[in-house]
Amino acid sequence: MPYEIIILAAGQGKRMNAGKNKQFVTIKSIPLIIHTLRVFEEDDQCAGIILVINPIESEQINELLKKYEIKKVKRIVFGGKERQDSVYNGLKAIGNTEIVLVHDGARPFVRIPTIHQLIEQAKSSSGAILAVPVKDTIKQVDDQLAVKNTIDRTNVWSIQTPQAFQVDILIDAHQKAREEGFLGTDDASLVERLGKNVYIVESDYKNIKLTTPEDLLFAEAILANWSNQ
Ligand code: C5P
Repeated sequence: MPYEIIILAAGQGKRMNAGKNKQFVTIKSIPLIIHTLRVFEEDDQCAGIILVINPIESEQINELLKKYEIKKVKRIVFGGKERQDSVYNGLKAIGNTEIVLVHDGARPFVRIPTIHQLIEQAKSSSGAILAVPVKDTIKQVDDQLAVKNTIDRTNVWSIQTPQAFQVDILIDAHQKAREEGFLGTDDASLVERLGKNVYIVESDYKNIKLTTPEDLLFAEAILANWSNQ
């Protein structure tokens, strides 16, 4: 089923300590954002990409899209202060699609068959999100780092992107969150608070978000053996 996707690249990526937006950091000589865009460029079901960027990086982004022959970016829009604002701006540019995906530009290792499973699940519910079971023991602490309790991890999952939604539901969820001043750390949380059902699709531990410098080492290792199929 065809879908459109909002890819977010408007953050500062300060935790990467790269002295520039982490989207431009290279892995095996190719910028991170290009690795991510290529997955969707190569997915036949992807009907168009809305790329959300920082306005001061417009020229750099346009040059990269040309150089690496990325053709599916239909619109480039400017991001906002928070990730949620950036998604909202992306949603304003979305075309005529039943299913919309939201994805972090800093997450280049999602596989195309997994994306298709996600879309199948989103078609029959309000939304679907990729996730992996947590491996570590999770504890809740107070401000002094005193342990308050140990969370039963049986049903605890670590959430990734892309996340897929019925487009009208995601627009409604974002509008309500804005009106009510709610700031979530992912898009699903905005849909959940409307009482809608969001389901997990099991993903892969390789679908990492590059956040801190050591993630670049993991990314090089993953890429050495990587296929998006
Ligand atoms: O900072 P973090 O890695 O969690 O951000 C997730 C994604 O959201 C990144 O790809 C980043 O570029 C994007 N983002 C954005 N606009 C913001 C903040 C983050 O597009 N205001």
